[in-house]
Amino acid sequence: MSVAPPNAVRDSRSDQIRILRSNSVDEEAQPGDPLAYLSASRLKSFLTCRLKFYYEKVLGIQPPTGPNLHVGKAVHAGLEAFHHARWRGESPTSADILAAYNASFCALEEAEAVEYGDKDREECLATGERVVRAYLESPLANDPRRILGVEVYLRAEDPSLPLPLLGVLDLVREGNVPVDFKTIASTPNLEEEAWANQLQLSIYHLLLGDATDQTAAPGELVYLVKLKTPKIIQHQLPPVTDTQLARLRTLADVYVDGVKRGDFYPSPGMHCRWCEFRGRCRAWTSLPNAA
Ligand code: SF4
Repeated sequence: MSVAPPNAVRDSRSDQIRILRSNSVDEEAQPGDPLAYLSASRLKSFLTCRLKFYYEKVLGIQPPTGPNLHVGKAVHAGLEAFHHARWRGESPTSADILAAYNASFCALEEAEAVEYGDKDREECLATGERVVRAYLESPLANDPRRILGVEVYLRAEDPSLPLPLLGVLDLVREGNVPVDFKTIASTPNLEEEAWANQLQLSIYHLLLGDATDQTAAPGELVYLVKLKTPKIIQHQLPPVTDTQLARLRTLADVYVDGVKRGDFYPSPGMHCRWCEFRGRCRAWTSLPNAA
């Protein structure tokens, strides 16, 4: 992952430059002590299936990278290159950004073997390229709001939460607006997606408020839909409510209690369709810490 120059937010009240640290440390991707910090991906994983959480976030077992995840990461890197250049005041060409996308696609393949299965590598490469191109040609690429930070790594010690909060925000726009990009296969139901992502947006709300001493604006989700003719859909979410923050705090307590007890058991459901740990799960008979 690239190391960006530090991102700065100008506090209009005090004219003070505050630093939104960039992603020089990628703690989020590292397994380890699940009680060291709380993040959206840890919490979501834990709440979806505690056994899968145990495999991926505690033991750090890396399942093979599938083509969808691989394309999503490379598209993400392409957009990151674009926004970093814009943040620096540059005007990159489409060719520059597509080259960054291609380079990332290959670099990620070298870092982790990709299991393409019945999918064709070149088609996957072309799919991602179409998505990046669609974004560059969309009105969002010329959003007049200033970019305050790209891949913004934030950590907050919130006394109302049992653990430090940690997160990496894809983009922060003028007005303290957190923006998150989602690469998906089909046109989303915006209401359902907003519901599914509310914990992540609540965490971003707290992180951004802590880093800037200003209330974060309502978040935005941008869907990059991998259709033959890709769609770019922007969804501006309603403000984070006190109820959502209270839910987050309660779920954080549930997380800590469950992890301390070692409550890592399977929760079969629809999400098992996409689970890479089904083989291990099938053999599961008791809690990992059981005598
Ligand atoms: S297969 Fe389902 S129940 Fe088993 S670990 Fe995966 S998500 Fe959990």
